[in-house]
Amino acid sequence: MGSIPFYLHDLGQAELDSLAEVLAGPILTTGATVERFERRFAEYLGCRNVVTVSSCTAALHLSLVALGIGPGDEVITTPMTFIATATAILQAGAAPVFADVEPGTGNLDPTQVAASVTSRTRAILPVHLYGQMCDMHALREVADRYRLALIEDAAHCVEGEREGIRPGAMSETACFSFYATKNLACGEGGALATNDDGLARQLRLLRLHGMTKTAADRAREGYQHWDMVAFGWKYNLDNIHAALLLPQLDRLESKWRLRQVLAEKYRARLDHISGIRLPDLAPESRHALHLFPIWVEGGRRDHVIRGLQERGVPVMVNYRAMHLLSYFRETYGFREGDYPVAEALGSETLSLPFYPGMPEEQVERVCQALESTLRPARRRAA
Ligand SMILES: *Cc1c(COP(=O)(O)O)cnc(C)c1O
Repeated sequence: MGSIPFYLHDLGQAELDSLAEVLAGPILTTGATVERFERRFAEYLGCRNVVTVSSCTAALHLSLVALGIGPGDEVITTPMTFIATATAILQAGAAPVFADVEPGTGNLDPTQVAASVTSRTRAILPVHLYGQMCDMHALREVADRYRLALIEDAAHCVEGEREGIRPGAMSETACFSFYATKNLACGEGGALATNDDGLARQLRLLRLHGMTKTAADRAREGYQHWDMVAFGWKYNLDNIHAALLLPQLDRLESKWRLRQVLAEKYRARLDHISGIRLPDLAPESRHALHLFPIWVEGGRRDHVIRGLQERGVPVMVNYRAMHLLSYFRETYGFREGDYPVAEALGSETLSLPFYPGMPEEQVERVCQALESTLRPARRRAA
């Protein structure tokens, strides 16, 4: 029996062919391939504009900057996420303010968000945790009530939908990651989706030094004097990465269906194992199924991590509550008890191996390893 990988990408011949096309042309950096990917990803999302960048962290940072959010401003976000969600706020010079999450889903709780608004609050930054969308209607209502921007961290949620709403539909921007293990992956990359054409134009300027001309413009028009009209960053995506992303758009739905079959198998099997529970599924929702987390009850999560790893099953933790990481404790004085729901989930959560193409036999092996880890006493007695 081979070892079980936690994740495997499926990039292959289609991506090699696409890459060969870029290498046969003159422009390696941002050009026609990037533009084609942006158009096609926008069509997929049903959003007016997609602006690619070098990472989701860059997308979050640029969103804040383009919306004029910086020093003196507060942005409300969730402690149950990857650190980039909050460090992007710090990069913009603003202060992250955490609000607690829903116990059923781990997503930002709109009631807690409303309770965290102050006179300095400028934006709400929800994360569609594991690929399940937040309640965007409720969050938009809070944002409108206090005139706040809404920026989605959709790093887990390319394929997600809830009550007909997809990422980018109800927010100023939705930010995506094309990091190595994400549902749409090219090693490193990211994108913003927005229905605001003016904001999209500003984001295009800010992702490349605030310059009015690009390498692609030079290839089309020859050299023309350019101007710097804003202070920007070096965040553009190149044709090489866009070439790897383009063919994957055709496989997004078939890969989602494969993950859906695996998730159903996991759910049916885990239903019979006591000591764990699964996150709730939100109503009228399509879960993007980026990760497959279980919540281990009774303070046994770390015991289960060790047990699974000893049995050759790799695991991850997405995530321990961010406010309790050393930097946030030491810099902002956060303590245990500040966000009790996030802390509880952060001490219970464990992500199981999960990727399209994972053999169903491996799901069974993971579940058997989990069972034997959770029932050591009975095995000794037998
Ligand atoms: C992966 C991830 C990010 C960061 O994405 P990068 O493209 O690596 O910058 C941000 N937020 C969440 C929730 C993520 O999972």
